[in-house]
Parts: sequence; C-alpha cells; structure tokens
Amino acid sequence: MRNDDFFKHFIGNSLTYDDLILLPQFVNFSPNEVDLSTMLTDGITLNIPIISSPMDTVTEAELAIAIALQGGIGLVHYNMPPERQYEQILKVKRFQNGFVSEPFTLPPTATIRDVVEIRQSEGYSIIPITADGTPRSKLIGMITKYDYSTFSEEDLNKTVQERMIDVEELAIATYDELSNDGVFDLTLANQRLLDSHSAALPIVDSTGNLLFIITRSDLDKHQNYPHAAQDEQGRLLVGAAIETWPEKAQQRIEVIGNDVDMIVFDTSQGHTQYEIDLIKWTKQHYPNLQIIGGNVITAEACNALIDAGADVIRVGMGSGSICTTQEVGGIGRGQASAVYECAKVCHRRGKRCIADGGIKSSSDIVKAICLGADAVMLGSLLACTSEAPGKTHIKNGVLLKEYRGMGSLKAMEKGSSVRYGIQTSSIRIAEGVSGMVSSRGPISKWMPMLLQGVRQGLHKLGLPTLGQIQEKLASNDILLERRSEGAKREGNIHSLYEVGSESYASSCSTPDDTVTKRVPSKEQLAMN
Ligand code: 5GP
Repeated sequence: MRNDDFFKHFIGNSLTYDDLILLPQFVNFSPNEVDLSTMLTDGITLNIPIISSPMDTVTEAELAIAIALQGGIGLVHYNMPPERQYEQILKVKRFQNGFVSEPFTLPPTATIRDVVEIRQSEGYSIIPITADGTPRSKLIGMITKYDYSTFSEEDLNKTVQERMIDVEELAIATYDELSNDGVFDLTLANQRLLDSHSAALPIVDSTGNLLFIITRSDLDKHQNYPHAAQDEQGRLLVGAAIETWPEKAQQRIEVIGNDVDMIVFDTSQGHTQYEIDLIKWTKQHYPNLQIIGGNVITAEACNALIDAGADVIRVGMGSGSICTTQEVGGIGRGQASAVYECAKVCHRRGKRCIADGGIKSSSDIVKAICLGADAVMLGSLLACTSEAPGKTHIKNGVLLKEYRGMGSLKAMEKGSSVRYGIQTSSIRIAEGVSGMVSSRGPISKWMPMLLQGVRQGLHKLGLPTLGQIQEKLASNDILLERRSEGAKREGNIHSLYEVGSESYASSCSTPDDTVTKRVPSKEQLAMN
C-alpha cells in the first residue's frame, strides 16, 4: 500500500517499526552511492542522519566528538551543572583532530598498577609522566603499554619512575618549533611523529611544561574522517540539553547559549506552556541558536512548538529501550505512527523532525527515515560504544556497558527528575530503568557498520538520498505493508541450529541483541 493510504487504513492503530515492512522499488545505482546527508535546519546540515541522545550514559564530550567526526551531532545531557556542561561543549568545539589536549597524566611516584587501572577503565595506553602528575606541569617521561608487564605482582607494585622512558630519551617537540607564525602546524607535527617512530609525540612549551600530545592512533583517525559535521569555522558541531524548568533553563542557556550549535528542550512531554514560553524566550534572546522542541507525538503538539519558534521537532514518547512511561501512565504512541504523523506536519510547516527512541537496528533507521524523519536519535545503540560515559563491566566473559533511562531513579537523583516534571514531588515513580548493553567497541568501527546497513536498505528501495525519500512521501509513493506475526518470525533468523560468528558483524540487524561478543579476560585485556 502507498504511504498515505497505509496510514489511513490503519488509522487509530499505534504502529511500531516492527509492525510494518517496506517494499522494494526500481534501483539504478549502487549502495555506495546512497547519500545520507540531511539538512536539520537552515544552518545545520549533517553528513549522516544520526543524533546522540542527551542521556547521562550516552552523550558527553568524548562521544559528541566521535559522532561529529562521523558526520552526526551529539547532544550533551544536563545531569550536570551548567558550567560543567559548558566545559564539555568547549571540549568538542576546541577539538582538533590529532591532538589530545588533556591527556591522562601521572606523577613518577604512581605505580604500574595505577597505569593498568587507567588503561582498563579509560582505554589509554600512553601516559605522559609529569612532575606533579597534572597535565600542564613539567614533562619528565612517558609510559606506554610496551614498558611494563601485567603478569607479576612485583611489576605491578613498581613505580612508574622505574619503568618509564625518561624525557631525555623521548622524542618530544616544542610548540614553537612546530608553529608557523604562532599557529601550530599539525601536518608538520604529524610528520615529526612519523619520523620519530614513536607511538606519541609530547608537545611542550619553552620551559618544558607539557601542553598536549599527538598520537599515532589519532593521526590514523585524522586521515579517516572526511565527513565530519562542522560549523562555518571548521569546528565540530555539538548540541546540549536544557531542562524545561524556566529559571534553571534560562540560567543554563545564558552559560552555554553563545557557544553551542543547537539546544534541545529535554522533557518527556513537550506540549507544555513551560516549553512554549522557553522556546519564545530563547528565540528572543538568542535568535541564531537552533532549537529542538519535544518530545511530542501528536500533530497538535508539533504545531504548537513550531508556532513558538522550534526549528526541529523531536518525536517519541515511551518507545525508548529503557522507557517505562507507557506502563506507568498508559501514555505514548507506537513510534512508526508517531513519526509518520509528526513528520507530515513538520514538513508541511517547512521544519524537520527527529525520530527518537526505539531504534534497535539499521532496519529501524531505514523505516524511520522512510516515514519522514530527517534524522534519528539513538540511545542504546550508542550507549554500547567505548566513547559512551557509562561504566564498562565484564560478566561471564561478555563486555557490557551501563545504560540507564533519564527517568530511572538513579538518573533522576542527578537532576533529570525535571524531565518528568516531578522534581518537587516527594514520591517519584521511575519512568525508566537501569541496565547494561553489550559493548560494540569504538564508534569509528560501529557507526560505519550501522550506516552500511542503512545504505543497503535504501538501495533496495531505490532511494539514493533523503531528499528523494521526502519527495516520494509527498507524492504517496513509499510502499508499505503491515507485518503479520508469521512474517515477523519469517523475517528474523530462524530454523538454525547455530548462528555463525559473522552475525556479530551484522548484529545491527539482530532484533533482540542476543548475539554478544566473547571477550578476553581482564588480564588478557590488560596485555593488549
Ligand atoms: P533508545 O534509543 O534507547 O531506544 O531510546 C532513547 C530515548 O529514550 C531517549 O532519546 C529519550 O527520548 C528516551 N528516554 C531516555 N530515558 C528515558 C526514561 O527513563 N524514560 C522514558 N520514558 N524515556 C526515556
């Protein structure tokens, strides 16, 4: 059935992504020609339609940098004071590919055990050693994973001083010798790094104090991110969440408003007078700041937020993997119906919309954008990456990352109760849960896999650009069918005695996340 006819036929049904399936159409291009870029607002174009959710186990600076390098945008959460959120935004804005401007450092008196701990918890295997252990003091050496063994207790108790490479034997460079007219020349620095045959090159000032380091792994990344999402000055794009508590919201916007590319009013029910007033206030005081309004799921709410001045609408209520809103209050909407209805209104009004929540796989991304979303917002599919702030655990040999709803009791204690309008209530009912997701490694590896799935989907649909999807939607030419229970079973892996290991590589399309990766023991990890 054609898109409008399909949704008219199922009017009043709350359809989810799983309830429908897209039908293929004529193709005359290859999957690699699919262009995933999307215009979110007049001023913001992303090279991939991916936005990271402003959740405290999903988006802080590290993940926002990684996602922007891939071409999307990260929204830093608000479970932190405005000043800290501002620091996070500046970290993204100041990020220069190839630099580690605030490396983890240790004093010479630290032990190898401390080094191993940082390596396990933070993933850094190169640690500059400074006189007092802070990042801006005198550089006295460097320790890398090749300088120690983790096997013997005796070695673990040794001091860093005993195992580090002394500054006299290190390849280092001063800021001035790698600068032209006072501007640091990264190309020159990278050449020096290559010539040094070292894993990293510390850069110091004229008195020998550490400034930053450049590393081989960053150099490799530098050469691999041609599609980074950038502002007019070539800095990475970043957004931030704002609470819809008027006084606090205004204070926060005053701290971050001049440096962030977009803000999202982060509340589970965005069709409120608070949000409408805040959008108007922001547009009046910060006319160039792009605003995501939401969360909403009805045409009426979209119109209200657009009337107030929202540039983009965030759609979804109760569909997130950690949400219990539908169970607690009986309120929400199947995400496919919500996205379709809201996207129609947004596009009619010349605005864009984001499908937020419930995306489990590349196929859901394909469905969301074929229902009219200009981008998708991801929680669990990014909480699983190395860059997400959630802690890493190893359970039965499986590497896991913490992931929790902003409406979980733990997250609400940190401030997000305002998202659910219960910040002043003495009794709070959680609208989200805490849990763990299987780790999927760095975004630089995971995101291209996820997006390749999207490209392959759009290719079969004969849709090479997101613009063409919008055209087909407008002319009622996207073909859909309702999936029967049998069709759902048939469409998933079935009748196999065992699933091969390659299914991990394609687990972006594994529906229930049952395929997990076995990882080495903690000790083995420490050795890698
Ligand atoms: P996911 O991608 O994991 O399916 O969903 C992420 C989305 O769920 C977020 O972007 C946000 O809209 C929503 N969300 C985050 N935390 C909670 C929560 O605790 N309760 C509810 N109802 N929704 C949440």
